[in-house]
Amino acid sequence: MKIRIGNGYDIHCLVSERPLILGGVKIPHEKGLLGHSDADVLTHAIMDAMLGALSLGDIGHYFPPSDPKWAGADSLVLLSQVNQLIKEKGWQVNNIDSVIVAERPKLKPHIPIMRDRLSTVLQINASQISIKATTNEKLGPEGREEGISAYAVALLVSLEPEENIY
Ligand code: MG
Repeated sequence: MKIRIGNGYDIHCLVSERPLILGGVKIPHEKGLLGHSDADVLTHAIMDAMLGALSLGDIGHYFPPSDPKWAGADSLVLLSQVNQLIKEKGWQVNNIDSVIVAERPKLKPHIPIMRDRLSTVLQINASQISIKATTNEKLGPEGREEGISAYAVALLVSLEPEENIY
């Protein structure tokens, strides 16, 4: 079985009067993430991990912030396009592991629905997506609540049938 691994990272600033969207889920909070799209850091990190696994560059290449087409874009739509791209290349997601770094709000109650949303878009089982959340112990930009970051690793497997070794 052919496999490829990729990692992704993203961070966005927390500001007033923006919705907080993580993993495609709108989370009640007094601040949200600033960005050209919906600024969903988790979904962005996952897309970069998927693209990185196939050395296909990063999301800035496919969805440049300079392009007004992507203003306010739903990151799940972008994720669907990245998934389509890797399928066209002959690959699919085997599993994803990720972590969101946020001092507040508590994210644990929202993780099951994030896994559902992301796995639906990726056409895989929710059990193939791991999402963890941690605080930054009040250290750094995440700890000071200036922003929220996310890290992701994606393992891709080839869609091609295994070679007959006989
Ligand atoms: Mg981003």
